[in-house]
Amino acid sequence: MKTLTSFLAGAWRAGDRDFQTLRDPSTEEPLAQASSAGLDLPGALDWARARGGPALALLTFGERGEILKALSKKLREHREELFELSRLNNGATAGDASFDVDGAGGTLAFYGGLGLALGDRRLLTDGEGVQLAKTEAFWTRHALVPKRGVALHVNAFNFPAWGFAEKFACAFLAGVPVITKPATATALTAHRMVEIAIESGLLPPGSLQLVVGSTGDLVDRLGPQDVLAFTGSAATALALRGRKNLLAGSVRVNVEADSLNAAALGPDVAPGSPLFELFVTDLCREMTQKAGQKCTAVRRILVPREREGAVAEALVARLEEVVTGRPGHEGVTMGPLATEAQLADALDGIAELLATAQLLAGSGGRAQGSGAPAGRGYFVEPTLLRSEYPLEKTPVHWREVFGPAATLLPYSGDAAEAARIIALAEGTLVTSAYSDDPGWLAALLAGAGSATGRFYVGSTGSEGLGSGAALPASMHGGPGRAGGGEELGGLRGLAPYLQRVALQGHRAVVEPLAGG
Ligand code: NAP
Repeated sequence: MKTLTSFLAGAWRAGDRDFQTLRDPSTEEPLAQASSAGLDLPGALDWARARGGPALALLTFGERGEILKALSKKLREHREELFELSRLNNGATAGDASFDVDGAGGTLAFYGGLGLALGDRRLLTDGEGVQLAKTEAFWTRHALVPKRGVALHVNAFNFPAWGFAEKFACAFLAGVPVITKPATATALTAHRMVEIAIESGLLPPGSLQLVVGSTGDLVDRLGPQDVLAFTGSAATALALRGRKNLLAGSVRVNVEADSLNAAALGPDVAPGSPLFELFVTDLCREMTQKAGQKCTAVRRILVPREREGAVAEALVARLEEVVTGRPGHEGVTMGPLATEAQLADALDGIAELLATAQLLAGSGGRAQGSGAPAGRGYFVEPTLLRSEYPLEKTPVHWREVFGPAATLLPYSGDAAEAARIIALAEGTLVTSAYSDDPGWLAALLAGAGSATGRFYVGSTGSEGLGSGAALPASMHGGPGRAGGGEELGGLRGLAPYLQRVALQGHRAVVEPLAGG
């Protein structure tokens, strides 16, 4: 069986014990094994600080941007191979694989473009200069300079390609070396991407290292110049962010965690209208793309009571068209969950939701996947539930079923009531609203805006990609339970890797200094 190696201190290195097996979630066949046991992980921090940071500091934003562009192109040359790894290890359909792999390439290219636009600059400025006294002889301007440490990137299992790329692009462009760690169970795609990146010879030495397996005590070794960017469950995030060294060293920690995203239909949207159809189409995609294993997937569907029957009927009909099975097998449109543990967790979650909800679609149990060996594979059918108690703090507002499941919540149609329901989840990555009524949309934003990181509007004639797509020009992250983090959003995404410095002095000196 293939053993996945880690790329540390300039060489590919294999762990020597405690291997974890990576499987094809459609068949449960083993694909590879991985472990970081026995590796010199602290040495990776030294290597990044001694080699990667200084090498990146020699480059301008423009030069780093050029590398990101070239890396995106290189990965695109390996697109089909990466799709296949994604199918094998993540159970991704071609569409799911594209969402992850092409999303990764697009994000690298986007940040490459931002770097090229910055050209010869070596630092960024924040806001305009301000005179501090009677004359320009005392002046202030804010500059953003790269931190001199290491960015440790810990990613979730569901987006091995995009998760790696969106974090790496921001840190690299900012000038901070990266140690990236994919979730072990689905590390195949990220491992190959890093292999391609290293083989390309594009990257300065020490600017990218890879840990496959546990990070050991790396988190405990981070200091004031380092950054921890974590994507995963709220429980792991809580355990990590409370580490004493992180608190004592004021280490930047960015967390992207669980989210019970909501989609709300406005009372103005009539059944059969184009906007109603868009709502149903978007819901079906957001529930079933990547078998619902998206942090941005819709989990709660708010529908005015008088529209509930029409939405349920239309959505159930769409969900019944979904063919669950082994990606690549004829007709299959939705794959399995990524691991046995995820399957168990999703079924447990559905059972918990069922205490205060009823099933409208799906069985609530494990399914047989089309084209999969009998009794094998981690399949769940698209599952739609309905709860009669939208304003009560039932599990629908706290239990994230990380699979193809969502719950219908009837409400009065009043935007303030919808906002109260949305806020019961205590912080989400995205809220989507479907309406052509500017007043209703404004009232929903006023009521629910502070509880969400992104407000996605579907209106007649709009051509959005759906609320599930985290695009590099828009901020990704959310308050409260969603982690409180902020990633992407153009140059905002570089923020965790930069130190804001208030420059003060004569304007004639400060402005050129800030100009980089
Ligand atoms: P997880 O169990 O928290 O694992 C996430 C990552 O943390 C994995 O790489 C895991 O490594 C690592 N990890 C676990 N314990 C660690 C420790 N003590 N020290 C260092 N690293 C540790 O989450 P998951 O099950 O992979 O991901 C699913 C969750 O992620 C869902 O709840 C989803 O909502 C969330 N998610 C959020 C976003 C977002 O952008 N907000 C995006 C995707 C997913 P191993 O695999 O080696 O255990």
